[in-house]
Amino acid sequence: MKRVKSINSILKGNKELPIVISGPCSAETEDQLITSAIELKKTNKVDVLRAGIWKPRTKPGSFEGVGVEALKWMAQAKKETGLKTAVEVANVKHVYQALNHGVDVLWLGARTTVNPFAVQEIADALDGVNTTVLLKNPINPDLSLWEGSVERILNSGIKNVGVIHRGFSKYGASKFRNPPQWQIPIELKRKFPELTMICDPSHICGNTQDLLTVSQKALDLNFDGVMLESHINPSKAWSDAKQQVTPKELSELVNQLVVRKTNQLEGEQTVELDILRQKINLIDNELIDLLSGRMELSDDIGAYKKSKGMKILQTSRWDEILDKSIKEGHEKGLSRDFVVKFLSTIHLESIDRQNQIMNSNSWINKVFSIK
Ligand code: PEP
Ligand code: MN
Repeated sequence: MKRVKSINSILKGNKELPIVISGPCSAETEDQLITSAIELKKTNKVDVLRAGIWKPRTKPGSFEGVGVEALKWMAQAKKETGLKTAVEVANVKHVYQALNHGVDVLWLGARTTVNPFAVQEIADALDGVNTTVLLKNPINPDLSLWEGSVERILNSGIKNVGVIHRGFSKYGASKFRNPPQWQIPIELKRKFPELTMICDPSHICGNTQDLLTVSQKALDLNFDGVMLESHINPSKAWSDAKQQVTPKELSELVNQLVVRKTNQLEGEQTVELDILRQKINLIDNELIDLLSGRMELSDDIGAYKKSKGMKILQTSRWDEILDKSIKEGHEKGLSRDFVVKFLSTIHLESIDRQNQIMNSNSWINKVFSIK
């Protein structure tokens, strides 16, 4: 991906440190925004001031942002502090208004990246414009959709493109407001190694107590920076009150972040790591052998059930496997969550294979020539 240019060079003086984007979820009043900017500048930890001007809210009736008026406050905040500014844009009108007010970074929110029509319209509006664009992941865990949004913006000629990982929607209770599903941004990075990656722990956590852990994890996974919401009076914030920290708390949080020197060591330094990796490789090989053996047994079970006219799924048997494995896993230091996830994946594959065997002679497989 040659055309991706790291936004580090544009937003960041010191490339050794992570990029820090911070500011309120929403711009509320002129005083709130300017005071935020001044306080954040004082911390000396922040590169870019963020604020939501147009707020995509789940339900009508909640605060939907101040609108274009707040762009003047952003311009004023930039003038007074020298901080670069970033706002969310969701349509072409927002793009023009933000650019006209000198906003340095435009970001597309999770509810916009999800819509290829909207992304394409914004990309067309940006054709030939020299600005920086950050793409939040779509709300649903769809890597291709996220990739597609990056491609659309790159195709418009914008070189300074980055992404923001803000976690993915879920239904039901979870530790996270938007579970991170780290494998998705990691896979995106594998596909676009040059892409600047920012993590947004505020929208992942939905609280303040887990922000440090998630921010640190992001840096350890080679993210280039963090976007953290901050507010001069978090409990009184007009949106996302639970997840915002004060500028002082933000400064303390950034202070606690450990920036590991490198992920590439030379020569002898890597011997110890190489040995550990070789051991891991051996275990992975064994796992593949074991899984292959397990699936062969599933095939045999499929054939047996077919010969006896049995159904595939016996939920009591699955409960028994799960309970036993959770207990054994616990004794060996494996979390319940991990055991359930990996056994469920194996179980699904096993059901698929049994299903194929049990239906191998059915008319539908003959028609579509499935073996
Ligand atoms: C935000 O940054 O305040 C926001 C609305 O984020 P997201 O698009 O990640 O929900
Ligand atoms: Mn927010």
